[in-house]
Amino acid sequence: MTELYDVAIVGAGAAGLTAGIYVSRKKLKNLIISVDVGGLTNLTNHIENYPGAGTQPGPDLMNKFFEEAKGFGSQFKYAKVEKVNKQSDGTFELLLEGGEKISSKTVILAFGSLPKMIGVPGETKFLGRGVSTCATCDAPLYKGKVTAVIGGGNSAVEGALELSNLATKTYLIHRREEFRADPITLEKLKASPNVEIITNATVLEIIGEKKVETLKLKTSFGDHLIKVDGVFIEIGHEVKADFIKGLVDLNAQNEVIVDLVGKTNVPGIFAAGDATINPYKQTVISAGSGATAALECYKYIMGSKAILSDWK
Ligand code: NAP
Repeated sequence: MTELYDVAIVGAGAAGLTAGIYVSRKKLKNLIISVDVGGLTNLTNHIENYPGAGTQPGPDLMNKFFEEAKGFGSQFKYAKVEKVNKQSDGTFELLLEGGEKISSKTVILAFGSLPKMIGVPGETKFLGRGVSTCATCDAPLYKGKVTAVIGGGNSAVEGALELSNLATKTYLIHRREEFRADPITLEKLKASPNVEIITNATVLEIIGEKKVETLKLKTSFGDHLIKVDGVFIEIGHEVKADFIKGLVDLNAQNEVIVDLVGKTNVPGIFAAGDATINPYKQTVISAGSGATAALECYKYIMGSKAILSDWK
């Protein structure tokens, strides 16, 4: 007979691992299924806004989450979930790449989002060596350096503002004339003396030997090379939710629609972290929402027997 888990958690970033810790402490039999451990937090070398944890590389912090989840009893499976189906008895079946099937009474979706990439030469090669997808996380590494931010939304403009306080010079490079960013933020950026905004420009290549050295741009005045130490790709994130389409309600950006406690439209399916409609994509927020979804999941499984006063 197929093993039936109490909880199947999809994703092992801050949200999924925290959910694992919480459901394990409630003695629920849980399996975390993920293609990696750490999620987006792994992309920063320098996380200093996870309260109480000091400053450390993102992967180190995520490894602690991982060890704690394992220590409390979460089981792990490195795999990609291809489909989630609701069964006639109210349980769920998760189909994994390769054909394996997992059965569970509940599901916590914590599969996160992926930073959008431009797709130019050098971008992947220098990820973590001058290319970053998170200005908020990595700006402190660029004190006294020259940086460029790509994008025209709030993430890019706010990122450039943050960098302008640390870097000697920051370029904001946007492919159009008009910005999506809030005008008030854009005005602040325009007033920064060490910021140069280059519009109608696209990145052709990120060049360097061991780390980023030069950015090759295509502009309306021809191709240009600019010397930079860091390039921040801030062109948004995407949620890849094909495996739950048609089952769970998603918004236009494929983010899972949840209520305040992480419930989706499907009883027994909960969601947390960057994969949800929560607008603030931060490690500490993902961890908190993972805990919330886990407690709500526990309540769903236990029904009237749930004791939620055990908050220690
Ligand atoms: P966004 O609003 O979708 O903006 C993405 C930007 O990147 C756009 O300017 C877009 O250009 C550009 N872009 C997309 N693909 C590109 C490519 N391949 N090459 C070059 N440029 C590309 O994304 P976001 O800035 O991450 O913001 C996402 C959401 O979070 C927004 O709703 C935003 O308001 C919100 N947010 C809010 C705050 C805040 O409230 N403090 C902070 C950050 C983000 P086009 O304009 O030409 O499409």
